[in-house]
Amino acid sequence: MSKLNPVTKHMEFGGITGVLSITFGLPLLLIAFHQLINDDYQTTLFTNFDLEKILTFKKPLLDICLDAQIWTYYLLWFCGLAVLDVILPGYYKEGVELRDGSKLTYLINGISISSFLLIVLASRFVTTEGALPELQFLYSHILEFTVISILFSFAFSTFIYLFSFIKLRTPNKLSNDERNEKILAAGGNTGNVIYDWFIGRELNPRFGPLDVKLFCELRPGMLLWLLLNLSCMHHQWLTLGRVTDSMILLNVMQSIYIFDGVLNEDGVLTMMDVTTDGFGYMLCFGDLSLVPFSYSVQARYLALNEVTLGLPLTLAILVLGVTSFYIFKASNNEKSAFRQGEKPHLKYIKTERGTNLLVDSWWGVSQHPNYLGDWLYSLTWCLSTGFGNPINYYYSLYFGSLLLHRQQRDEVKCREKYGKDWEKYEKQVPYKIVPYVY
Ligand code: NDP
Repeated sequence: MSKLNPVTKHMEFGGITGVLSITFGLPLLLIAFHQLINDDYQTTLFTNFDLEKILTFKKPLLDICLDAQIWTYYLLWFCGLAVLDVILPGYYKEGVELRDGSKLTYLINGISISSFLLIVLASRFVTTEGALPELQFLYSHILEFTVISILFSFAFSTFIYLFSFIKLRTPNKLSNDERNEKILAAGGNTGNVIYDWFIGRELNPRFGPLDVKLFCELRPGMLLWLLLNLSCMHHQWLTLGRVTDSMILLNVMQSIYIFDGVLNEDGVLTMMDVTTDGFGYMLCFGDLSLVPFSYSVQARYLALNEVTLGLPLTLAILVLGVTSFYIFKASNNEKSAFRQGEKPHLKYIKTERGTNLLVDSWWGVSQHPNYLGDWLYSLTWCLSTGFGNPINYYYSLYFGSLLLHRQQRDEVKCREKYGKDWEKYEKQVPYKIVPYVY
């Protein structure tokens, strides 16, 4: 057994059964979203429920899986962004200290990538006088792109799993015998192929300058989500002759969230996804398939349903959006600044591990005020669709359970890491997410 990579003893997500259910269940959910809301058929689940229509695909699934044109576009999108990720200018930032004392350096160039994409879109908009065939193509092939992104996630995470066994690694500070050993995720080294493939065996897979995890987290999926939303707005404009206030509100709020992620990518370097989780099917599928094809459900619904919110409701949703986004950003920024040595006036607990735990300001209110802001913001996206179809509220439900599960995983990690200091911390900050409630 290696000192650097101890064997993982505990399995999360209900072990192999849970992991297999998620592996096959979530892709089915994405396909179901398409079957429940598309140009030919829509159901609210309570009315107009037609199982036969739901189970009827516009073409045989095997043809979709083997669609060479969509595969080509998808691979061009993924590989093109990977190349841009490596060549576009940015600045370098160190990540958190790894188990062996080393730190990885990341190229932070979200602003270059976003500007590049926006310039391409704007120039296409001008040359085609607003009728963007690419967006219309994307809109009319959502099912094909969904299926192919799922297949790609399967293939890519399998490749990354196999790659984790190749002992190639940039030198670190350890003694010579372990110098070439890769760092594996603390939770993804059970030895069980299915579980480790799902959770992610290697902590930070890299191909030369390309950091696979950071790239997948912020580029192909997030930006595809943006394009899908724009394609829905574009479709509404083509079919309705105007764009509704609900569609504008949703696009604005989700674009802010997307660009906030892409432009403030150094904030991701301290997130659990980067510091703790391995890159396995869970993250790969989440980043590449779940984000674009389930987070765009509301826009897809609005593309087919003319929802006019009116000024009072639009303003009310906007106020909730601004407030929750502020809570989300202010709390995340505060922790990040504090961890970088800024804000020394805030109260904190000094731990034996050497890191300090904030117990003041946002971080005195609850243990995860950022989750609260993030969840409330997600609710505003659902509210923008009105109350006509409960499927649109799936996202808040899903995201609420994700954050709850994440909080529990984080608590286990922190309890183990900080021991008695964590108990002291819990006494000072007793609420986990929502003050006075939980
Ligand atoms: P947190 O930002 O809450 O980070 C938790 C970590 O921060 C802990 O493991 C601990 O790490 C450290 N920490 C905990 N309490 C304190 C404290 N009081 N003072 C200082 N450090 C503390 O969680 P995440 O990384 O999960 O989430 C970051 C953001 O990303 C959140 O806003 C979340 O909502 C969002 N998110 C969004 C997702 C999406 O799909 N849209 C998915 C997941 C997250 P250490 O070991 O360093 O002490």
